[in-house]
Amino acid sequence: MTVRFAFDNSYARLPSSFYARVSPTPVSAPHLLKLNQELAVQLGLNPVELATQAGVEILAGKRIPEGAEPIATAYAGHQFGQFVPQLGDGRAILLGEIVDQEGVRRDIQLKGSGRTPFSRGGDGRAALGPVLREYIVSEAMAALGIPTTRALAAVMTGDEVIRETYLPGAVLTRVASSHMRIGTFEFFAARGDVDAVRALADHAIARHYPDAAGAARPYLALLESVIARQANLVAQWLLVGFIHGVMNTDNMSIAGETIDYGPCAFLDIYNPKTVFSSIDQLGRYAYANQPAIAQWNLTRLAECLLPLLAEDQDKSVEQAQEALSAFAARFSDAYNSGLRSKLGLLSEREGDLALTQDLLDRMVAGKADFTLTFRRLSEAAMGPEGDVAVRSLFEDPAPYDDWAERWRKRLGQEPQEGSARRASMQRVNPAVIPRNHRVEAVIEAAVEKQEFGPFEDLLTVLGKPYEVQPGFASYAEPPPRDGRVYKTFCGT
Ligand code: AMP
Ligand code: MG
Repeated sequence: MTVRFAFDNSYARLPSSFYARVSPTPVSAPHLLKLNQELAVQLGLNPVELATQAGVEILAGKRIPEGAEPIATAYAGHQFGQFVPQLGDGRAILLGEIVDQEGVRRDIQLKGSGRTPFSRGGDGRAALGPVLREYIVSEAMAALGIPTTRALAAVMTGDEVIRETYLPGAVLTRVASSHMRIGTFEFFAARGDVDAVRALADHAIARHYPDAAGAARPYLALLESVIARQANLVAQWLLVGFIHGVMNTDNMSIAGETIDYGPCAFLDIYNPKTVFSSIDQLGRYAYANQPAIAQWNLTRLAECLLPLLAEDQDKSVEQAQEALSAFAARFSDAYNSGLRSKLGLLSEREGDLALTQDLLDRMVAGKADFTLTFRRLSEAAMGPEGDVAVRSLFEDPAPYDDWAERWRKRLGQEPQEGSARRASMQRVNPAVIPRNHRVEAVIEAAVEKQEFGPFEDLLTVLGKPYEVQPGFASYAEPPPRDGRVYKTFCGT
């Protein structure tokens, strides 16, 4: 059976310095673990074709579908603050682009598909664990309504990869609005190749920010648009307790999607200083640092765009600074209005910010679970009977009681009440998130015992994060005290 992809590969038509043409390295025994049927349909792909032997071989990089133009893209990046002039897709290969059912152009990329000219010392492969982690967390983010790359499929390769030990190899098919990163701009800017920076900026405008094309200053409009999208994105991360873990400039998408799921994790207990990543020893990418890091990364993007902004360097710098200064307000607006919704406050009144901050501070002191506190507040908003369940999340519940009294007074000024308010709160306060202990348990079952039932179950629950699903109530629970995960590891 032929597997049809209606490829139209705009990135492969850019100058040849943007990528290396390279085919995936064949694998021995491809085996389909998971196909995202719904996403396949959205992409205009036929899930039945994809699940055939030929389809699975494509998803494993063993067979190149018609119309694909496999490339590894070039990029640079600041990793933990240090500039690395050449990174690039070392273990990922872009097969091509397709325009989805809604007219949006999407990249189809194989991650873990073998070495490329950008692999440096790496093997170009991915182990099963990180592939499952990315599948779970990226799909959970999508279900939460947060911009993200998607997972179309996960396949086992039949080959082993060598990490600390031998591990089963796997390939993830990643779908993204594009794979342009801040690091892609840095790659060309660092080489002084202004024409390439311009071509890349034009491509980004055409693809993601068509309105910028008609602006008086299109490249400034591009910068402003990326800043706005990133500010919104990071606000949404914070509102669900997400920590990306490696916010290097090469892991920050120009399209404003969450990308490159490595040691990412969600908070259980609320503490803004939380760091999970084993490689983030100084806490650069801690939960609460994410807005400041996003702004730092966007400053690197602005530097790349300087030669395009104005004729005169000083004017360019002035424009870039003004654009960057909008980040803080944009982030705060999105974050604060998100927090208000989480507390059932639809109108905006003086004192709201202090009230929310006060709750957060008390959550830190009381070691309260982030997700459950907000979710249970949606019941407590119905009346003080709901307080028992929230109180139980605090080591010392007295500070909550005091706060709840003030919160109820404030709720009294809201037009919405009762079950309508509960419903709107439940739409923004997830019941389930991909808790680390669950993700780790799924990976362990898959890698150690070849059991994929837990993976399927977790995906089912996370597909409807704002609903409590019968039979799956335990997924909302925080880890037992001795089952907390404190460290997460990179995808490699
Ligand atoms: P990441 O950790 O995904 O942000 O990757 C950082 C850089 O390391 C990128 O250039 C990757 O392509 C490269 N890389 C990560 N893992 C591997 C691997 N197993 N083989 C080759 N390159 C890799
Ligand atoms: Mg990366």
